[in-house]
Amino acid sequence: MAELCVCSVLVTGANRGLGLGLVQHFLRLPNPPQWIFATCRDPNGQRAQELQNLASKHPNLVIIGLEVANPASIKAAAAKVGEHLGGSGLNLLINNAGIVKPNSLDNETPEDMIQVYTTNTVGPLLMGQLSCSKAAIINMSSIGGSIASSYGWELMQITSYRCSKAALNMLSRCQSLAYKEHGILCVALHPGWVQTDMGSYAGHTPPVTVDDSVQGMLKVLSSLSEKDTGAFLDWEGNVLPC
Ligand code: NDP
Repeated sequence: MAELCVCSVLVTGANRGLGLGLVQHFLRLPNPPQWIFATCRDPNGQRAQELQNLASKHPNLVIIGLEVANPASIKAAAAKVGEHLGGSGLNLLINNAGIVKPNSLDNETPEDMIQVYTTNTVGPLLMGQLSCSKAAIINMSSIGGSIASSYGWELMQITSYRCSKAALNMLSRCQSLAYKEHGILCVALHPGWVQTDMGSYAGHTPPVTVDDSVQGMLKVLSSLSEKDTGAFLDWEGNVLPC
């Protein structure tokens, strides 16, 4: 496996679940990034305790407050990242933060549709507009957003989530077209059905551990090249139908 080598990476929703797993794995790489920006909504609170413990041991880990549904918060976080990076931009942006509402089609509401879309789709859009010197943008999507597969419908209808991820897949495609001339690779990634709060919310035990998912995704990231831009892939490197 080609070794993943990244100078600077920003992960949204890094205080728990897959975001925290990604940060832990980046720190453990043989050649860890010079800067890991772990962003979360409440950087000084209890919910960021694990990140705070890690940051006390790893000077390359910087915790930054970031609410992806709030454009002002995104701008403020970008300014803080800029203070650390000086003139150079981020190499890797992982739009990981996401929410799900456990609604069936019949009880879906405008408020939930809008909140889930704002977090899961508009957040990654605004994050992607921050700087044009990144090498890659990874949008954490879901097979649940695949129109062609309708995966898991019998278990979970979660229409607002599915629509937001289908739109995120389209956003990834748009970003790949628009940012190609800047040499920025844009990929939508399905992490598997993973043992996190979100993965377990409906009471089922997901088959994939955070460690296995993250390890798989980092392997996929290390193998990406220009030809993959705009792709929708899973944590094992399989191409998924949009
Ligand atoms: P979790 O629910 O375990 O964690 C979600 C993370 O997103 C938390 O850190 C949460 O922060 C953060 N977050 C939510 N809303 C916002 C917001 N508005 N601003 C900033 N941060 C926010 O989810 P997972 O780790 O399982 O999911 C990570 C990504 O992977 C998501 O995009 C999800 O859709 C995707 N995914 C997950 C699957 C799974 O099986 N787990 C399957 C397919 C896709 P806080 O602690 O403050 O709430």
